[in-house]
Amino acid sequence: MPQHFDADVAIVGYGPTGVTAALTLARHGVSVLAFERDEAIYPRARAVTVNDWTMRIFQSLGIDQWIAAVIEPQRALRWTTYDGTEIMRVEHPPSTLGAGTRFYNIYQPTMEAELRACAAEYGGLVDVRYGAEAVGLEQDADGVTVTAADAATGERRAFRARYAIGADGGGSAVRGMIGARLLGDTLDVRWIVIDCRVKRWWPDRDVRSPPSSRR
Ligand SMILES: Cc1cc2nc3c(=O)[nH]c(=O)nc-3n(C[C@H](O)[C@H](O)[C@H](O)COP(=O)(O)OP(=O)(O)OC[C@H]3O[C@@H](n4cnc5c(N)ncnc54)[C@H](O)[C@@H]3O)c2cc1C
Repeated sequence: MPQHFDADVAIVGYGPTGVTAALTLARHGVSVLAFERDEAIYPRARAVTVNDWTMRIFQSLGIDQWIAAVIEPQRALRWTTYDGTEIMRVEHPPSTLGAGTRFYNIYQPTMEAELRACAAEYGGLVDVRYGAEAVGLEQDADGVTVTAADAATGERRAFRARYAIGADGGGSAVRGMIGARLLGDTLDVRWIVIDCRVKRWWPDRDVRSPPSSRR
């Protein structure tokens, strides 16, 4: 009996990994139904650097020029005091991939927004359900059933796909749903992440009185 599939591939989680998977599949004509628990992109910085291999992936997806417009090459890391005295400098060697620098500075929410905008160009192939949390995943001989709960109403609905990808981050629920376990080590330590507005050093200005808008 012919089966109905909502999409070829269901993707759980629409962060950078999920969007990159969606772009890769859509580029090959494979339809995607993505479930993203959150309505909006996670607003804090998290990743600040990606390397040239990440840019190579974006290049293979034909979106490197769009991503390049919202990130910036990182040629060196410099630590300076407020008066401009350099304390430490790490120069990066050039990329071995033939073009560009080895590292790029990013602001993850901005880069994610650009990735999503690129995926939205594949409107007919990439269907994203925001505010939909995958709460169940069952595989059978023909495909996968993903049960998603609406964040607003709690209403649950089942969707069918031929395959499913768990791209739901470090605390992946999909991992538990398929009976897999985290491989490798993880460090159980407490981190403090501080996002702050930097008072910039302008060589041509009096550093003791930066413009008030930067304070
Ligand atoms: C402080 C900090 C600094 C970092 N610095 C760097 C760095 O410099 N360079 C670097 O490369 N990486 C860095 N990282 C790591 C980087 O942020 C992650 O590797 C990246 O976000 C992983 O992307 P992802 O798509 O796999 O997962 P996530 O970004 O976690 O995305 C997973 C998505 O899945 C959704 N989701 C989860 N469960 C469900 C569910 N059941 N149903 C539907 N949706 C679900 C979540 O809402 C989320 O949007 C840093 C991370 C932190 C915390």
